[in-house]
Amino acid sequence: MKAAGFHLHFYQPPRENPWLGLATHEWSAWPYHDWNERITAECYRAMVAVALPGDNGEVELYEPLGRSSVDVGPTLHHWLDRYAPDVGRALADQVTRAPGGASALVLAAPLVHAILPLATPEDQERLVAWGIEDYTHRYGVAPRGMWLPETGVDLATLEVLAAQGIEYTVLMANQARRVRAPGGEWEPVDEATLDTSRDYVVTLASGRAMTVVFGQHDLSQRVAFGGLIADGVHLADVMAEAARSSDGLVLVVADGETYGHHHHFGDLGMCWALRRLERQHDVATSLGTWLADESPTWEVELAAVSAWSCAHGVERWRSDCGCVTGERPGWSLSWRAPLRDALDWLRATLGARIDDALAELVNSPAQTLRDYGRVIAQTIDPADFVAQHAVAPDEVVTTAVLELCEAYRHLLYSFTSCAWFFADPGEIETSIVLRYAALAIDGVRRLVGEDVEPAFVERLAAVRSNHRGIAGAPLWHRAVEAMRLDDERVAAAAAAEYAARGDAARRERGNYALEVEPAEDLLRVTTTQRACARRRTFEFRVNQTGPFAWRVANAREGGEFTEADFGDDVVARLAMATLLGAREGDVDAALNELAAQLLARPATIEDERALVSLAGATRIVSPIGESAIRRALLAIRATRGPGGWSETLAELVGVLGLEPTRS
Ligand SMILES: [Zn+2]
Repeated sequence: MKAAGFHLHFYQPPRENPWLGLATHEWSAWPYHDWNERITAECYRAMVAVALPGDNGEVELYEPLGRSSVDVGPTLHHWLDRYAPDVGRALADQVTRAPGGASALVLAAPLVHAILPLATPEDQERLVAWGIEDYTHRYGVAPRGMWLPETGVDLATLEVLAAQGIEYTVLMANQARRVRAPGGEWEPVDEATLDTSRDYVVTLASGRAMTVVFGQHDLSQRVAFGGLIADGVHLADVMAEAARSSDGLVLVVADGETYGHHHHFGDLGMCWALRRLERQHDVATSLGTWLADESPTWEVELAAVSAWSCAHGVERWRSDCGCVTGERPGWSLSWRAPLRDALDWLRATLGARIDDALAELVNSPAQTLRDYGRVIAQTIDPADFVAQHAVAPDEVVTTAVLELCEAYRHLLYSFTSCAWFFADPGEIETSIVLRYAALAIDGVRRLVGEDVEPAFVERLAAVRSNHRGIAGAPLWHRAVEAMRLDDERVAAAAAAEYAARGDAARRERGNYALEVEPAEDLLRVTTTQRACARRRTFEFRVNQTGPFAWRVANAREGGEFTEADFGDDVVARLAMATLLGAREGDVDAALNELAAQLLARPATIEDERALVSLAGATRIVSPIGESAIRRALLAIRATRGPGGWSETLAELVGVLGLEPTRS
């Protein structure tokens, strides 16, 4: 059988505020709320059904996902579940209806987009197990293939996959070193000479075997980085010809964002090619269908360790190997090694504390952590999970076990590979992993009473941002502090929101469930952190002391909080209450009016705070309101001139790169 088609790698990093689990607003993704939403609109949702001209002049809605090979990073899948459930459901529906079902079309992926060869053996095993759990829950079948983040692979990684029942993975041609025909001699290969039209087997030390399929190097490169996707007819004909003149398989492997985001209308080009391959050239288009009839006879020897976007093994994710995206003249990559070292140290230190603390509570810490993937995939009730593992389960033990498992999960999330991928550690991708590290540190501090934060931050001293000229503690604080929350602050913010908005105040805020009830002159707030069933009750005295000034005092324990402690999403709701006054509901109109006023009068500090907080808010302002915010902020910028303009404002309006950098 001949086959020619596409493997679509769908992945985005976890962008939400991890303390809350809420997506944060990103002006740079304008006119969309954030980058996940923009990429979803341009690529993922676009590829659910693509309108192509049919034979008789009618429009055909063509569904490419059920005719391709696909992997979806679990962190993106979690985001889709919450913010674009239509896309996740359409994908599941289309691949389930396809011949062979989901296991033939969709590859699983480790739960976290971490470079597996750089992870500890325990972490490798759990990342793979958790990814398989997520997949099995989603599609109702076990996966046959697994996509490795950045196709990062070595033999130990393949052993972990094989031991958990994975049959094949997809790599790129630059990762092969030698091949051997049945009964033949080993022959050296490189990306230009490797025959990618057949599947290969890697025989492992354990005696297990792993099938490896390689993307066609030249076509994959020209689709991803050249203009080949612009002409679907030509692309299909080239792919079909390559399949006809070879052993059978032509697989174009690229990021899903290639089709629609990196190349506008690339989704159309891909569908045009796919439909032509299917109907004019009569070849199979899905890798899984082709593999079902195949049993590899040729062997391949892989490079000792390799990945698809680094020419030096997996150095891109731990040293200054020179492979980089987004560099500028004079910038240094010397921050990569200390970032990796600091996180490895944190993994070892916190991991030991988590194991020790779990050992007091459960029969087997290792088995408990491995099994926690079922809780993440929501295939078991968290309390039942603890009941299965704990020595003496009760409410306190349940919360403690779940918190320790969560701290470990956050530790693994802090190895998300994007942190090392780009040129500067001041960018969002590195901030994301630092936030997860902070969350793991917070969890262990709360449960074990040990604070490793100072020692960790010290290890970040050599992690220097080229762009911002800061390193170590300032870089850490910039990434972490604006988002960091604890139960008491969440409760204080809920009290303020209730005082400002009454019944319109939220009963849930991301990962938290909130109960607020007036108790004489106080507000009694109960927070439940849902992932670990941690419940706490506080009583506050709330005073609004100005349009944007709040004092929330803890009546029992004595702490005091202001709007600076609440978090952007709460401050935005307070701003909305102030902005609207007696006018119910229409935030967009109020923002438009404010934008118009600011062309005629100077902005007050209250105006600025309202705009900044609403600009950073999570999904409470429509694109019309966002447009008004942007115009108002630009009006402030025009009046103030140079010097009167903060980096925060510049970043919010999306003109940061145009402003003089402040260090
Ligand atoms: Zn490299």
